[in-house]
Amino acid sequence: MQINILKNSITFLLICLLIFSECKSASYIKNVLKGDIHKQLLALKNVNIIPMTIPNKVIENATIVIKGNTILSINAAIPDSAEIIDAKGKWLIPGLIDMHVHTLTDGHFNTNYTTRAAAIFTSVQDIMTPYIANGVTTIFDLNAMAGHFGQRNEILRGDVIGPRMALAAMINGGKGSGRIANSPSDGRQTVRMIKAEGYEFVKVYSQLDEETFKAIVDESHKLGMKVVGHIPNSFSGKIDKAFVPHFGMIAHAEEFFKQTERDSVQDPKYLAQLAKKNGTWVSPTLIIITSALEQAHSLDRLSKMPSLQYVHPLLQNKWLTSNNYNKNATAESISRLERMVQFNNQLVKALKEEGVPIVAGTDAGSSGVVWGFSLHDEIALLVKAGLTEEEALLSATRLPATWLGIDDKIGTIEVGKFADLILLEANPLLDIHNTRKIAGVFVNGVWLSASKINTMLSELSKKNTDSKHKYEWKRRADY
Ligand SMILES: [Zn+2]
Repeated sequence: MQINILKNSITFLLICLLIFSECKSASYIKNVLKGDIHKQLLALKNVNIIPMTIPNKVIENATIVIKGNTILSINAAIPDSAEIIDAKGKWLIPGLIDMHVHTLTDGHFNTNYTTRAAAIFTSVQDIMTPYIANGVTTIFDLNAMAGHFGQRNEILRGDVIGPRMALAAMINGGKGSGRIANSPSDGRQTVRMIKAEGYEFVKVYSQLDEETFKAIVDESHKLGMKVVGHIPNSFSGKIDKAFVPHFGMIAHAEEFFKQTERDSVQDPKYLAQLAKKNGTWVSPTLIIITSALEQAHSLDRLSKMPSLQYVHPLLQNKWLTSNNYNKNATAESISRLERMVQFNNQLVKALKEEGVPIVAGTDAGSSGVVWGFSLHDEIALLVKAGLTEEEALLSATRLPATWLGIDDKIGTIEVGKFADLILLEANPLLDIHNTRKIAGVFVNGVWLSASKINTMLSELSKKNTDSKHKYEWKRRADY
């Protein structure tokens, strides 16, 4: 599928060696992180809290106190030393979690010289700014590499404001690059290596054969790692066989579509029941196919998309000049994408009806899907497909925290949890599009007001625009 080809080329970009890149706003960010704002007590007054703990719960007109990176109290006395923000009429939700991203790291396109390192450098702050500007305070990278450990360390060290990062290392079959396993014993060994390298999760991909896939899922479970990923193409026409114990989550609703495409019927209810019976969760990533369909028709909207200015100029150029969705589009491929969009919506409805947990993911980093911004699109698409506003919020807060095993720390607004929070101008339970009306974000207790966020975004936009002339996708091998 086209997505795979695209993803492979993005994978090249992700080849990693971490460099401390210069960042215009670095000193500003250091002040925010290490200065008084982080140390002191901060109280939000008169705020409507949507804690996401139990259905329909709203704590109206509440007071919440943040100390350091933790929620100290809700509706208790405000300590004298606290700085107070009046949040009258505003709404507080947990920081959002994107369960499917591909975060850019430094990369190169030429490997034939021994001492050659990356040639395309990315400022870690610039890569993380779009996430936090959108209140995305935790991400799950589904093709994690060494460079992502470096990024995560920079964030934890306090040099960069960014989301918490969960990392899944990918295993594929066939003849490609990366971690390839074409036998059960190779599959098991690759899982052991992934564990030894420090990744927390395993991602399975499309070209794995049946027995290798099963061995990977089994070995991962033995080593205490959850498995997420595609349904391998080897299960085409026999999708039920892919539901082996401990296949934890399926990334993309269209995986169900692809592996049943040749069947006489594609019954969303039956497919949802398979997931339910096996305890497999689903991250539908509606935005990626919706966006792919749009790009297949025309690149007009993409070229005018406001969030494009926050994408690294090399990728901007790739998306606009070397766009495989668009270049390879035929009447047939477009009609297949249309069927997929329709199927995906039906599947979401069926998953909901069967009680399969749905989590929000975007595949951000793929053509046309911008980090951070796209999660708001995804949540809105989930509502359009039949979730309630509350269910959609749940899919990007408490549920993914639970799947990742960090629900004791994030995903809800409760005393003792990390202060990953979004302050909204309007109630997202009335209109899910209100998640975009951000008045401020707490990232691990650091308060970023809307005006600070705008400053960071406009600096990033200017930097990207100023360096645009240096990057051309077609010349990437020369860099
Ligand atoms: Zn992906």
